[in-house]
Amino acid sequence: MSRFWSDVTQGLTPYIPGEQPKLANLVKLNTNENPYPPSPRVIDALRATADDRLRLYPDPTSQQLREAIGTFHGLSIDQIFVGNGSDEVLAHAFLGLLKHDLPILFPDISYSFYPVYCGLYQIAWREMPLAADFSIHVDDYLDVPNGGIIFPNPNAPTGIALPVTEVERLVAGNPNVVVVVDEAYVDFCGETALPLIDRYPNLLVVRTLSKAHSLAGLRVGYALGHPDLIEGLNRVKDSFNSYPLDRFAQVGATACMQDRPYFEQCRDRVIASRERLSAGLRGLGFEVLPSGANFVFARHSAHAGADLAAALRSRSIIVRHFKQPARIDPFLRITVGTDAECDALLAALTGICG
Ligand SMILES: *Cc1c(COP(=O)(O)O)cnc(C)c1O
Repeated sequence: MSRFWSDVTQGLTPYIPGEQPKLANLVKLNTNENPYPPSPRVIDALRATADDRLRLYPDPTSQQLREAIGTFHGLSIDQIFVGNGSDEVLAHAFLGLLKHDLPILFPDISYSFYPVYCGLYQIAWREMPLAADFSIHVDDYLDVPNGGIIFPNPNAPTGIALPVTEVERLVAGNPNVVVVVDEAYVDFCGETALPLIDRYPNLLVVRTLSKAHSLAGLRVGYALGHPDLIEGLNRVKDSFNSYPLDRFAQVGATACMQDRPYFEQCRDRVIASRERLSAGLRGLGFEVLPSGANFVFARHSAHAGADLAAALRSRSIIVRHFKQPARIDPFLRITVGTDAECDALLAALTGICG
């Protein structure tokens, strides 16, 4: 605490990112990064960008990248907003589209950054309990007056996907507010809400290159929706930082979106490893929630989540454990690594759970 801090700063409860340890030989399954490298075309494009042009500001509109994203999804460029990671896109959506007088709604178990943005931008919020099976219960969102709705699909950290018919029911039932669907993990089997954006001007879909595209280090995310929503996001962006994507991020992300076969290949490998990992965990006595993501959320009937996480750490394997909310304290969130990494995890758990 400092007397120089503003009232807003004093009131903040910042997000705590998963740790990025510097240790070598660590099996790192804690922050849902992709175990495979980015497309070689990304690396080539980045190398070719390291030259005198760094003297100049990058394109403030990221036009080329938005064109590549448009081609990838079959959308027009005025339906696309890009930002410095989807976290920045989400932040702009909170301030630019979700901040109204009524509280916004999100699940009680979801991405823990949402309440942080509410604190930063002084937005009231209300948490909606997940059902007993950890699924989102859409009816709960249909008759609560609200300023907007946001949820991840598949949800984090549960990994459970909401069928697109249910997403549509939620969006259609809230026509006067913006519904943000955070599709950070949708490539790993979730059903995307993208086909709905032409019919629902209140739907914003947010994506990231950090997970399925192996580019967490480049910091690129984007939003897709009606041009009016995109214009709102651009107004916020240009009132904050006109150049959120540097020259490397724009060029690297463009090359990434242009290499669909590589993306599909890595994604399919992760999905296959996830199914293998889930089966292995069940064999060790874990309950594993059905995952549509690149992580699994699992608990053991005889071992506490915190104890398992600590025991794995002592064996140089890092997974994520959340103490709050209490309902998820028994669980571990385990990123799907390569098959070799998953095998190392299963071998360690076999030793621990005996
Ligand atoms: C990882 C993640 C993000 C953030 O992704 P970045 O693009 O790396 O900022 C957003 N939402 C959810 C639910 C995530 O898990």
